[in-house]
Amino acid sequence: PGVLYVVATPIGNLQDISQRMCQILAGVSQIAAEDTRRTRQLLSHIGVNTPCFSLHEHNERQKIELIVQLLEKGESVALVSDAGTPLISDPGYPLVKALRDRQLVVSPIPGPCAFIAALSVAGLPTDRFIFEGFLPAKKGARLARLKHYADETATLVFYESSHRITESLQDMLVAFEESRQVVIARELTKTFETVLSGSVQSLIDILAQDNNQTKGEFVVMVHGASKANAEISPEAKTLALKLAEHL
Ligand code: SAM
Repeated sequence: PGVLYVVATPIGNLQDISQRMCQILAGVSQIAAEDTRRTRQLLSHIGVNTPCFSLHEHNERQKIELIVQLLEKGESVALVSDAGTPLISDPGYPLVKALRDRQLVVSPIPGPCAFIAALSVAGLPTDRFIFEGFLPAKKGARLARLKHYADETATLVFYESSHRITESLQDMLVAFEESRQVVIARELTKTFETVLSGSVQSLIDILAQDNNQTKGEFVVMVHGASKANAEISPEAKTLALKLAEHL
């Protein structure tokens, strides 16, 4: 049978295209793309004209049988998303799971991934981190998710879009203590690449003063809670607050 290659593509800078990526995209019989128009632009840039079909959130399950048939005929297929590594806050999980369940071969062609690039330059601990992807769009759910992580000691990593970056930072101000360090990596590998680091409040102020800082794509990273704080059990915290009332 053929192989499904899961191919990472650039997150902004086309010079991050790898030789292996080109070789695989040229060599497979078809490419399953999140957005075929976007992938065709990439293909024309590298002079490849392999046929593409769409595979996105809404049709992914219907496309699985088609891909299984291609692989079983001995044809190989590449999976790409709009940018970065497929399956990382992008389509592909049901497909890869279905192929693995059928003992078909799935092989990675590694390359750019926004949160890995962001972590590599943030200056935050990287020995333990939690990648949360996108926070919920609704305020209540978003705040609840952030509060859930208030005592987490691992570095927290989120994806964020330009229209919600300010609201998310404001919710972080509520969920985390004031001094918590946050790093925002914006437009990585692109012209306006910026990495800002500071307290949540200082970053809110910078974004409020300079509207350009709210534009583009973001990875938001939060330093984990300090051990001392995380080790106090919620019961002990409640008790301490009650005692304080009587002082
Ligand atoms: N699969 C992609 C990856 O491997 O990083 C992520 C896809 S997700 C739909 C898009 C989000 O990734 C953006 O909203 C942003 O949070 C982040 N992102 C993508 N490109 C970025 C870049 N150049 N700089 C900063 N963040 C980026």
